[in-house]
Amino acid sequence: MSLITCRPRALSPSEAAEALRRAMLINPANAAARRTVVRTPPGRRGGPRRLAVVIARKWPVTGVKLTVQFLDNAPADLRKRILLHMNAWNKTANVQFVETRGTGQVRIARLDSPEDMSGYWSYVGTEILGVKDNEPTLNLDSFTMRTPESEFKRVVRHEAGHTLGFDHEHMRGALVRKIDRKKALRFFDLTQGWTPEEIDEQVLTPLAAASIMGTRESDPTSIMCYQIPGAITKDGKAIPGGRDINKTDFAFAASIYPKRVRRGRS
Ligand SMILES: [Zn+2]
Repeated sequence: MSLITCRPRALSPSEAAEALRRAMLINPANAAARRTVVRTPPGRRGGPRRLAVVIARKWPVTGVKLTVQFLDNAPADLRKRILLHMNAWNKTANVQFVETRGTGQVRIARLDSPEDMSGYWSYVGTEILGVKDNEPTLNLDSFTMRTPESEFKRVVRHEAGHTLGFDHEHMRGALVRKIDRKKALRFFDLTQGWTPEEIDEQVLTPLAAASIMGTRESDPTSIMCYQIPGAITKDGKAIPGGRDINKTDFAFAASIYPKRVRRGRS
């Protein structure tokens, strides 16, 4: 069964406060997308709810050059292949991921346990700078050279999108409205063990209209849109989700991190 397999990670409340200040310093425009959400601690059923202020976490408009460290002993060909797919965004945007043997700003793991660290996820944008140096900022559960090319396109490019500061496109109002709340609560409780608060935050709360790919309509084929199973939609039809960076994604990335910054833009 298809699941929303990616869940962007969040910092602890004290780390988040620092990350908020940092995000506004790095790109003052980040403050414009301020919103408050309810969060529960990841992987802990029924934990206490808390409110979190979320602002955009985009990098400077002058471009993104991030060092990448592999935390496990990933073979050279795999490291090269992962970097190649992360750098797919460079086709239109001023974005570069460069491997380092030292401590990277992006730190990639392939953990399949413990449960709350497994799966595919990334911290979002400038938040990666708030993660402890010895911890991953991006996880590609069990990726090897035997993983199909289609998964490198779908997953690695999607997680790199989070690292670039992009949110989930399926959180857009038009797509969230297709989801049947009752079905979703039951489905994610059974399959993910999420609390109703977590399901609200991860699946049922639309993001601000203009905060994502910059298009007015939601885009179900965006790389930042994950599959939504028919089991939780009102009409029983699945939302297919993006399989690769599409035209709109490329145009959006180019508008956020243009290869040539016009004079007078900060
Ligand atoms: Zn995601």
